[in-house]
Amino acid sequence: MRVLPLADSYLLVENSLRFERPHGPERPVMPADSALYVSKDSILTMCAHCRRTRRIGMTSVPVWDWVPAYLVEPPGPVSHGLCRNCHAYFYPSPAAIFHIFRLQPDGSELRVGEAKSYVGALFDIEMLASRVPAKYVIRDRATGQRHVVNLGRLEKSG
Ligand SMILES: [Zn+2]
Repeated sequence: MRVLPLADSYLLVENSLRFERPHGPERPVMPADSALYVSKDSILTMCAHCRRTRRIGMTSVPVWDWVPAYLVEPPGPVSHGLCRNCHAYFYPSPAAIFHIFRLQPDGSELRVGEAKSYVGALFDIEMLASRVPAKYVIRDRATGQRHVVNLGRLEKSG
């Protein structure tokens, strides 16, 4: 994506395809299930960038799924948000570093990665937890703030 300034305070947003491939097992395709995706107000929320669909009322950390049927024919009005993957990709904080640790059975923390945004760290933990189910910890290097994440669900912070 490129954003170019134009005269009179307008912006030109240019998107281009970087690569194309079929979805793999890391991106399961979900069926269109109104009970999972359509709010009480009959509104469906999709990511403005990648068009994933947000689940309603599931967890404190929003879950976004690939639901191709809703791209073909949404069930009603569509609102737009920004999924954590796109947020981390398009709007990383240049100075922020979030260290990721896996909680060990003895309570110690093993450093397993770092991310440039909190949502990027959550995304990384989702991937890590799919391979090694465990509790993970995110530490904001700048503030020292610590968040315990259990398979994508924020458990406690402090
Ligand atoms: Zn997205």
